[in-house]
Amino acid sequence: MRIKRPVRAIVFCAALCLLCSCGSIGTIKGMTGSQAFQAQNLPVRNLRVAVFTDGSKPDKEIKRTIALASDSLRKQVGIALVPVSWQKIQFKSSGRAAMINQLYRRTLKTLPGNSFDIAVAFTSYNAMDDLKFVFSMLVMPVPVWAGVIDDTYRRYIVMKSTDKDNLIHEVCHGFLFEYVHSSRGVMQGTKLVLLPFTPPINETQYLTAQDRNNILKHKFRDFSMRPRLNLPEGDLLNTGQSAASSVQ
Ligand SMILES: [Zn+2]
Repeated sequence: MRIKRPVRAIVFCAALCLLCSCGSIGTIKGMTGSQAFQAQNLPVRNLRVAVFTDGSKPDKEIKRTIALASDSLRKQVGIALVPVSWQKIQFKSSGRAAMINQLYRRTLKTLPGNSFDIAVAFTSYNAMDDLKFVFSMLVMPVPVWAGVIDDTYRRYIVMKSTDKDNLIHEVCHGFLFEYVHSSRGVMQGTKLVLLPFTPPINETQYLTAQDRNNILKHKFRDFSMRPRLNLPEGDLLNTGQSAASSVQ
């Protein structure tokens, strides 16, 4: 998940209000209340989450993010996030692949492979990200990543953000093997932010019907097995290439 902050955000308030409400168009938002829909979500999968934190975010905030994402995922696809362990981690690098690799190696050392389904490490935006935000406001948009998942196991996630929508996005990557991102809904690859203090104009926690169907197909996958990704060439998340070589 990337965040882009456009250049000069001279936008009329009325237009902004309209845009802010468009994120959920084309999603399952209006369907989740029906009994038939909820029946399709059964049985619920309790996804065991090994949580890691570098201490830059309050534990309470992390727990709240996981709980909110869990509520939403349970409602949409019948997947609940259940933290099963909690560890400190200090990242040695700010590179995506290096962080994913460090998280992967840490789990190898400290957790039996069958004791968790996914590992999620929380860190924060760094000084370079702050510079990019300023550059985006003054000169031109520069993407800043908010969360990332490996391309090898689709199991190891690093989050700079504690936005629940971002966590939902990364977790859902763990169940989508046929494509990476969607043009609508929470699986869009980029969030567009007009101003630092405004919400993304395409913000939503909801999946499209197609994303949901594909996630349901792989809902009970075994996370210790490498998934058979069937992505268009060059469409990997481009983060796990070095992780892939190190986890062969
Ligand atoms: Zn993504």
